[in-house]
Amino acid sequence: MDDKIVLTGIRPTGPLHIGHLCGALYNNVSIQNKQDYKHMYGMIADAQGLTDNFDDPDKVRNNVIEVALDMLAVGYDPEKTTVFIQSEIPELTELTFYYMNLVTLARLQRNPTVKNEIGQKEKFANGLPVGFLTYPISQAADITAFKATIVPGGEDQAPMIEQTNEIVHKFNSIYAPVLKPVKIIVPESNLAARLPGTDGNAKMGKSLNNCIYLKDSADTIAAQVKSMFTDPNHLRVEDPGNTKDNPVFIYLSVFAKPEHFAAFMPDYANYEELAAHYERGGLGDVKVKKFLNDVLQETLRPIREKRELLARDPASVMEILRVGTQKARAVATETLSEVKHAMKLDYFD
Ligand code: ATP
Ligand code: MG
Repeated sequence: MDDKIVLTGIRPTGPLHIGHLCGALYNNVSIQNKQDYKHMYGMIADAQGLTDNFDDPDKVRNNVIEVALDMLAVGYDPEKTTVFIQSEIPELTELTFYYMNLVTLARLQRNPTVKNEIGQKEKFANGLPVGFLTYPISQAADITAFKATIVPGGEDQAPMIEQTNEIVHKFNSIYAPVLKPVKIIVPESNLAARLPGTDGNAKMGKSLNNCIYLKDSADTIAAQVKSMFTDPNHLRVEDPGNTKDNPVFIYLSVFAKPEHFAAFMPDYANYEELAAHYERGGLGDVKVKKFLNDVLQETLRPIREKRELLARDPASVMEILRVGTQKARAVATETLSEVKHAMKLDYFD
């Protein structure tokens, strides 16, 4: 045990998908189970989810329970991780307001993840809500409120962590050394750090309709795999194929384990042998997709079964969130009071 504090966050903008599994959830659960930290938090970021879904409150609300079910089904353990709902902790909003003084508009506009997200959202074509542009500041509030030192996440989170550390340094040097710098942990494989969509888009994203969800039925998974984008130039089986920008191969490289090869694809010992054959020519998409389907079915079945069990008792899930939120709020309240004291905003203490 050391003084590591871990914060993970997920927006309730849709059920979780296999990009989350390899980009965040596997990582989070393995850190959780090592238990070499002082505290671990799992935030359901509903307020941040509203920054690009403010016109669809039902979507965000309904996905809180969906995301909680996904988290518990993959192994978040409420005994070890404090799972909570962001909007129920108003101290986070207050911190955001004070941090806004420490960030320039130009700095926000330079954030590559935000820039990319803005470009993909049609609803922002006629104007960008200030709330969306400033969500990296609210993320800094979330991280610093719990004095988190570690944030595991996908590659798209790196700019948020950089922004958070800038705020931390500026705050500490102007006011007092209250805030802690933070480190990101991305998955070792850069393919897992940003899993592409089934359509070949650079990122699988809940808001992009190119996902295989953890809750998908066996039939839905099979249909999704069947219709996946592959190498558009691989027309005949004997043609040489491209595995690099081919989501079918990328998913296999991330999810196919030796036991999957042994059970479903015994002619090949591992991913490298399979990929080499495709690149050489002579291996058809149908066969590879069938294998990917087998791999994903094996990977997702236990998660789906656990999820179905948990979903029978939504009241217990909400109780986990209520208790977690209460605990988390006490910590955020403490940090906010230190922040306000450092800023000389403590008139009646
Ligand atoms: P949205 O499109 O609404 O932003 P999202 O799919 O990006 O949804 P988030 O809740 O924003 O999901 O992200 C939760 C975590 O999952 C983050 O750590 C993020 O880096 C990671 N993540 C999301 N999508 C992927 C992906 N395609 N590959 C790897 N990691 C991902
Ligand atoms: Mg996202």
